[in-house]
Amino acid sequence: MQAEVNIGLLGHVDHGKTTLTKALTGKWTDTHSEEIKRGISIRLGYADATTYFCEPCKKYSFSEKCSSCGKKGQIKRKISFLDAPGHETLMTTAISASSVIDGALFLIAANEPCPQPQTAEHLMILNTLGIKNIIVVQTKIDLVTKERALESYKEIKNFLSKSVAENAPIVPVSANFNLNIDAIVEEIEHIIPTPKRDKTAPLRMFVSRSFDVNKPGTSIDSLNGGVIGGSIIQGSIKIGDEVELKPGIIRKEGGKPEKLTFKVANLREESEKLEEGFPGGLIAVGTKLDPSLTKSDALIGGVLGRIGELPEPFNVVKIKYELLKRTDVENPPLKQNEAVVVNVNTTTNVGVIVELAKGIATIRLKKLMIADKSSKAAISRKIDQRWRLAAWGQIV
Ligand code: GDP
Ligand code: ZN
Repeated sequence: MQAEVNIGLLGHVDHGKTTLTKALTGKWTDTHSEEIKRGISIRLGYADATTYFCEPCKKYSFSEKCSSCGKKGQIKRKISFLDAPGHETLMTTAISASSVIDGALFLIAANEPCPQPQTAEHLMILNTLGIKNIIVVQTKIDLVTKERALESYKEIKNFLSKSVAENAPIVPVSANFNLNIDAIVEEIEHIIPTPKRDKTAPLRMFVSRSFDVNKPGTSIDSLNGGVIGGSIIQGSIKIGDEVELKPGIIRKEGGKPEKLTFKVANLREESEKLEEGFPGGLIAVGTKLDPSLTKSDALIGGVLGRIGELPEPFNVVKIKYELLKRTDVENPPLKQNEAVVVNVNTTTNVGVIVELAKGIATIRLKKLMIADKSSKAAISRKIDQRWRLAAWGQIV
């Protein structure tokens, strides 16, 4: 069974995203390297969990055994939880990868006054993106008194009023003690249903990683082909399909990328082998490509589609944008000739603003990019020696 819905985790640093992911799925997503944490490249962490339903008790759970009657529940579906390292990357990822996110868990710790600065920024992003399927998780309740928990609840309610999360349920939990985790499942099953997907839509898979899975010293006859990982946002992919990946690979230094065409050799989602893959979770596509083409995330930012169905890559992009109101640093209007980083889907691209007019920034990119019109884009600029999110918008 493949994950069929993606839920993003948002919330101030240290409010417990990684710990909650562990409590929900049994896995740590926080395996991002320091290099990734410091940079701005997008690296979503995925961890899947299966939900079960106990018919007699009418209860959902992440464990097969019902916590009330002890009987085995029925499998409902598999959910993929998405986490991203660091605050800046989380914000840019939430914007640029919003097409992948079907709903959000918004974490707010009970032991700190609400809102913390990043809590406010993440709510702004939820508002901006119009992500409506939100569950607020009040974390760390084991660290506070009942009085403080109730006071924190009031702060949260106040903070959320008139926002997209105004009517979101607030679930108090302790991730460390596995307390009230099933209440999250209950809300997820009601608030974040699996979206209706059009299986006949043209395939689009955003590549977010690529590997050489062979151990050093493997003999030539037992070498595995390159593996490409990413999220399908529409359509489906089957073993045996002929597909292409654009912009592709640069074979000569200073040359243009060439698209890669190949046959799907095998498919996986987490540990599940699939015959056919659909939107949801992180799909790994096995190929017979030379693994040197796919190693070390060489194909990150590419898009996979059926032959002839992908748009052409471009190196000038127009983005209708809005400046982000930042509380932590100055964020004046964008400037002509300013260097920026543009994140769209899973691509990270450096560029220069060549024109600003009528709320549209025209940006010349260093590398070719491939994206459909109206894709969401995040624009970062250098502030105090670091790339920080400055604006967000849509490709026009
Ligand atoms: P993230 O930065 O949002 O991913 O936060 P982490 O999951 O890394 O949590 C930050 C710290 O808070 C860690 O030391 C956790 O052990 C602790 N923590 C997270 N959730 C809870 C909780 O429910 N109760 C308690 N007592 N500590 C927690
Ligand atoms: Zn039961």
